[in-house]
Amino acid sequence: MQLLFERSHAGRRCTILPSCDVQTCELDPSLCRAQAPRLPELSENEISRHYTELAKQTHGVNDGFYPLGSCTMKYNPKVNDEMASLPGFAKVHPLQPEHTAQGCLEALYLADQYFCEITGMDQMTFQPAAGAHGELTGLMLIKAYHEARGDFKRTKILVPDSAHGTNPASATMAGFQVISIPSLENGCVDIDALRQATDENTAGLMLTNPNTVGLFDLNISQITEIVHQAGGLCYYDGANLNAIMGIVRPGDMGFDVVHLNLHKTFSTPHGGGGPGSGAVGCKEILKPFLPAPVVTKDESGYHLCNNLPQSIGAVKEFYGNFLVVIRALTYVLTLGKEGIPEASSNAVLNCNYMMGHLKDVYEMAFDKGCMHEFVMTLEKLKKEKDVSAMDVAKALLDNGIHPPTMYFPLIVHEALMVEPTETEPREVLDHAISVFHKIYETALSDAQILHEMPLHTPVRRLDEVSAARNPKLRFQF
Ligand SMILES: *Cc1c(COP(=O)(O)O)cnc(C)c1O
Repeated sequence: MQLLFERSHAGRRCTILPSCDVQTCELDPSLCRAQAPRLPELSENEISRHYTELAKQTHGVNDGFYPLGSCTMKYNPKVNDEMASLPGFAKVHPLQPEHTAQGCLEALYLADQYFCEITGMDQMTFQPAAGAHGELTGLMLIKAYHEARGDFKRTKILVPDSAHGTNPASATMAGFQVISIPSLENGCVDIDALRQATDENTAGLMLTNPNTVGLFDLNISQITEIVHQAGGLCYYDGANLNAIMGIVRPGDMGFDVVHLNLHKTFSTPHGGGGPGSGAVGCKEILKPFLPAPVVTKDESGYHLCNNLPQSIGAVKEFYGNFLVVIRALTYVLTLGKEGIPEASSNAVLNCNYMMGHLKDVYEMAFDKGCMHEFVMTLEKLKKEKDVSAMDVAKALLDNGIHPPTMYFPLIVHEALMVEPTETEPREVLDHAISVFHKIYETALSDAQILHEMPLHTPVRRLDEVSAARNPKLRFQF
């Protein structure tokens, strides 16, 4: 398809600026470009057609089933966007005096209370813009806590090998040394190995739960107890809260700090690098270290409190992606106290339903009840028929289904990780199950054709390595 630059015609425009109603002034020439930038020149119609064409080349949650494991690609209710576009929220200025933004502060304060209730924490910050950003923030809180006590020897963070890949990366970014804890055959943390690795140098533990193979760790309270007894703190990667929200709370399992991916569990849009929110909640002991400002309330109204002398400092300007928080708050208020656990229960039910109907042909990495996602291994199919997880994923595309997450988690070979989410009805799951079965039969009868799929998508198999290593980010005139 043509790029905007290729569609450009000199002089074509799509903006009609209102007449200027303020005084004009001359800029100092040193501040101005010598030459105008070479931007594409197009009509609004052409731009609209360009982006529609682009949208048709890809697969979104509004096109069809999108069971991308670990990503919780649930439907994003339109009412969330409607609330976020109310002018009182959308047009507020971050530096507006606090008495003129009371409604916005109330929304942040309410969101804080609801997410504390859901996680079992005492205070939230909405500054982090993504899950990994929340992890970094949470670890900085843990670091600040130990250092404020004069305890500088705690330099190690324990990370089970079933954790999300961002966990060891965030711990390293925060200046810790990562100690990997192995999992047992059953997919849970090896308690003996954990006990051995925990000592007076342990700053804390980072646990993804349910973990990246979709299992809820059976020894969760014992795990946090071991770490606490050694003087460490416990971090809960709550990006996967979709399996447990409103049912169990990280705070009650002994965790001191947690992040949520509002752009997964709480139905705000994600993907493509758009704005997200990795809200972080913490227990009382970590509150003094939170990024400023925090929203407080007294008889005179809501306030932005910047008086946090022990704060780790801001991790993002102002209050984070405020309108993402508004969308998530809308979702929480829409579902209510009954709807939130029901969404989780349905996510787990949908997942077990699919797994139950696939395990007769596809080998499951862990053949027991799963939470919100399950992982299959195509190791045998690969060995016997030379059909890989990639081949199956590409064949799904020809059937209007977005592939599951591939080759992750790393502890499972030829992995496909499926997360249906609660927003899919049974007939969509049944269709996907029949497509998986059909692909399996093709693998047995005509494996060659699977290497060539997808046949019917706008683009076929792409050179993903070159796309990642040598991206063309600049138009060559
Ligand atoms: C998605 C995810 C993350 C990272 O979140 P980002 O918003 O992509 O940074 C971390 N942990 C888990 C378990 C996740 O699923």
